[in-house]
Amino acid sequence: ALTAGIVGLPNVGKSTLFNAITKAGAEAANYPFCTIDPNVGIVEVPDERLDKLTELVDPKKTVPTAFEFTDIAGIVEGASKGEGLGNKFLSHIREVDAICQVVRCFADDNITHVTGKVDPIADIEVINLELILADMESIEKRIARAAKLVKQKDKDAVAEEPVLMKLREAFENGQLARSIEFTEDELRIAKGLNLLTIKPMLYVANVSEDEIADADNNEYVQQVRDFAAKDNADVIVICAKIEEEMAELEDEEKEMFLEELGIKESGLDQLVKASYSLLGLATYFTAGVQEVRAWTFKKGMKAPQCAGVIHSDFERGFIRAETVAYEDLVEMGSMAAAKEAGKVRQEGKEYIVKDGDVMLFRFNV
Ligand code: GDP
Repeated sequence: ALTAGIVGLPNVGKSTLFNAITKAGAEAANYPFCTIDPNVGIVEVPDERLDKLTELVDPKKTVPTAFEFTDIAGIVEGASKGEGLGNKFLSHIREVDAICQVVRCFADDNITHVTGKVDPIADIEVINLELILADMESIEKRIARAAKLVKQKDKDAVAEEPVLMKLREAFENGQLARSIEFTEDELRIAKGLNLLTIKPMLYVANVSEDEIADADNNEYVQQVRDFAAKDNADVIVICAKIEEEMAELEDEEKEMFLEELGIKESGLDQLVKASYSLLGLATYFTAGVQEVRAWTFKKGMKAPQCAGVIHSDFERGFIRAETVAYEDLVEMGSMAAAKEAGKVRQEGKEYIVKDGDVMLFRFNV
C-alpha cells in the first residue's frame, strides 16, 4: 500500500499529530494487509458515499478503506551529513510515497523552537535543504558512474546524463526535483533515481487552538501558503493538539466539538483527503449484503489490477466486472433498478476503473 511520511523539525507537533492518527485508529482486524509497525498509523478514509451505500444496501457490515502514515521523527539540520541519526531518517523518507511536512505556525513561549523563533519558511527551507543535499549526494555518484559508461557508448547512460545535469543545476539553485520541468522521457528517468525531492509534498501548517477557526488571518499560515504556491504544493491547516483531543471522541461528539470551534472539517480528515489526492488515489466500492466496502486504487488502474487490491486470486482469475457508477446506483435506488435501467455495465480486462465505481468481480479460482 502507498504511504505518506510525516516529517518536520523537532517540536513542530509531529508526535502530537501522529498520536491523533493512531488514537483515531482504524480497526486493525479489518486491514490484515496493512503494515504492523509502531511508526505506522492507519486511518480510515472518510467518504460520505460509503454511508449512502450502506443506507441503500443495508449490509451486515461496512468497512471504509484505509490509509497509512509513517512517523519519520527527527530530521534536523545536518541530517544529510549523517549527523546523529540523520541518515537513518532520510532512508525512511526514501521508503514513503509522499511527504507531509509539518510546519510550526503556533507561537507558544513554553515550547522551545529549535532555531529560536517561530519562522515557518526558515523551517521549511532547513528541511528541504536536507532533502536536496541527500539527493545531491546520490546524483553525484550517478554522474561519476554515467560519465564512465557514456565513454563506452552505453545507451542508458547517454540518456541519463543530461537528466542528471539538469538535476544537479536545480539542486545547486535550491530547487526540489519535484518542481523541475522535465520532458516525458526525462521524467521517467528522473523517477527511476529514487530521489527524495521528487516525491509529492504537502505542507501541514500547525496552528494554535486559539487560531484554528481564523487561520486565514494567521500570518504564518499565509507565509506557508505563499511559499507553497510557488512550487505548486498543497497546504492544509490543522491544530495538532485539537486533533489529538478529538481522536478519542465518538463521531457525534466530534461534530459538536468541530462546530463549537468553528471548523468545517477535522484536520485528520483533511490530511487523509489531501494525501489521497497527492498520490493520485481514488476509491471504488463493493456493495454486497454481507459487506459494503471501500477500496483504494491508483487512478489509471485497470479492472483486473483493481480486483487484485482485494485479493491476488481475483486478479489472476479475472473474467469480467459488473460495474455501475455510484451516482447512477444512488439515482436508481437499488442494484435491481440500476440493472433494469441498463446502468450496470459488463466490463473486461481493459476497463479503466473510475472513482466511485461500484464493482462486482467475476473470476475463476
Ligand atoms: P515533535 O517534536 O514535532 O514531535 O513535536 P510534539 O508533537 O512533541 O510537540 C512539541 C510540543 O508542542 C508539545 O509540547 C506539544 O504539546 C506542543 N504542540 C503541538 N501541537 C500544538 C498545537 O497545535 N498547539 C499548541 N499550543 N501546542 C502544540
